[in-house]
Amino acid sequence: MDKNTRICIVGGGPAGLSAGMYLEQKGYENYTILERLDRVGGKCWSPTYNGRRYEMGAIMGVPSYYAVHDVEEFCGITHDGPKLNRNYKNRQGKVIEPFEPKKNLLKIPRLLKMKKQLKKFGELLETKYKGYDVNGHRGVAEGRYDGFSQTSAKREPIKGENPNLKDLSLPFNEFCKLNGVELIQDIWIGPYTSFGYGYFDEIPAGYVVKYLDFQTCMNFVKINLWTWKNGTQYIWEQLNDHLKHPARLNSTIESVERKDGKVYVTVNGKVEEYDKIIVTAPLYIPNKRTDGQKGMVDYFDAREDEKELFSKIDYERYDVLAVETKPEDHPEISYYVFDNMVPDRLGHLMVYYRRWRDTKDQVITTYALRKHKNTEEVPYEECRKMVLEDLKTMNNPASNVVNEWSVYYFPHVFSKDYADGWYDKVEAMQGKYDTYYAGEVMSFGDMDETAEYSRELVERFF
Ligand SMILES: Cc1cc2nc3c(=O)[nH]c(=O)nc-3n(C[C@H](O)[C@H](O)[C@H](O)COP(=O)(O)OP(=O)(O)OC[C@H]3O[C@@H](n4cnc5c(N)ncnc54)[C@H](O)[C@@H]3O)c2cc1C
Repeated sequence: MDKNTRICIVGGGPAGLSAGMYLEQKGYENYTILERLDRVGGKCWSPTYNGRRYEMGAIMGVPSYYAVHDVEEFCGITHDGPKLNRNYKNRQGKVIEPFEPKKNLLKIPRLLKMKKQLKKFGELLETKYKGYDVNGHRGVAEGRYDGFSQTSAKREPIKGENPNLKDLSLPFNEFCKLNGVELIQDIWIGPYTSFGYGYFDEIPAGYVVKYLDFQTCMNFVKINLWTWKNGTQYIWEQLNDHLKHPARLNSTIESVERKDGKVYVTVNGKVEEYDKIIVTAPLYIPNKRTDGQKGMVDYFDAREDEKELFSKIDYERYDVLAVETKPEDHPEISYYVFDNMVPDRLGHLMVYYRRWRDTKDQVITTYALRKHKNTEEVPYEECRKMVLEDLKTMNNPASNVVNEWSVYYFPHVFSKDYADGWYDKVEAMQGKYDTYYAGEVMSFGDMDETAEYSRELVERFF
């Protein structure tokens, strides 16, 4: 492609900003990033409280976050944040140690079995599911893998046939059952469901294992984590500052028209002309949202195939509260509540997070899911009430809520569409209308997968 191609990037989150970085590194300098809000970072949102930044969105990374590491190198920054740690409580607020055999004598046989299954699962992923860990979902439904291996920072291109990969369209619980490793769900659930990515009986295994590949999951288990003192938003603020063309904030895109090989974007009342457009913002939002976010099909001259395919996308209703507590009510550490990570406890507190261990004058953040595929959605206010009640049960009552949001979170498709080749159909449309689709739904809803997808998109098409 001509290096002077005029490229419009919609969205100044990790996907959009990293697309800008990778384009620039490849010699494309004629790009414009349009961001609707007055800040960059998207779901990496780190507001300030009592002089320190806390996390309303993304919190942590792991050493296999290679694309995030690219960004750190580009900007000369590093992961310099507080060390995380956590403990566990049951739904009655009692501290438990579910993985400690000495404290759970009756559970020893189950724990031993789990350990065996963990080993087996690691081996299966390497052998039976060879190729499972490339970024994105291209070819999976057809039993192929095609992408860049994520097992080392080199990210070598790999490609091949593996019919077993078709199993990845099964809901994760069925996938585990098929492979005789049901108990590993007790491990995977912590960094999966409590992080807002849905329940194992509804989410295709492809999402689960591509995000929580064996190495990444073990990093979570061993608390081998990265954080950033000034928050995850700082990574993207820094990237924005280092780009030749920082994002244009407060850009309201009214419409996008694609005709005669050109892309006409009406932004803040003016028409701008581009050659190509990369969409990292939501492609489809099935309901009206109070935050005003819309799917691209609502402001683009969306074609029938775009409308048809993107209408299959659903997302999680993941709610975050930042609360103050009295010093005596402040939790000593972050807590996971496994009892609440099941669909029949929808809307309850799944995890609460103490970021700063050296002081009690900082906020605690709480996390709850209120949607499950086959259950009625819990209304926002009801969920909020339940979470505040749960904090009391946990003996860490809140005195005040200082910040809150209900996030458009983890866009994905369900098993039937995954198995029907949704990803291959969308991948086949890349570039068709001078339009490229990136962002979370194309890979997974975390900072690294989404930035990595942008890297590969630039590699493949620019
Ligand atoms: C509570 C929470 C916890 C999380 N924890 C982690 C974690 O620990 N580790 C991790 O790696 N990830 C975590 N994530 C996920 C991570 O933040 C996201 O996956 C990542 O930010 C996705 O990047 P993105 O650029 O694809 O989308 P987003 O971050 O959503 O960015 C999209 C951008 O597009 C903009 N936009 C939307 N519509 C338009 C429009 N019409 N025109 C212009 N701009 C538009 C938005 O304002 C936004 O800035 C968490 C997220 C949340 C909310």
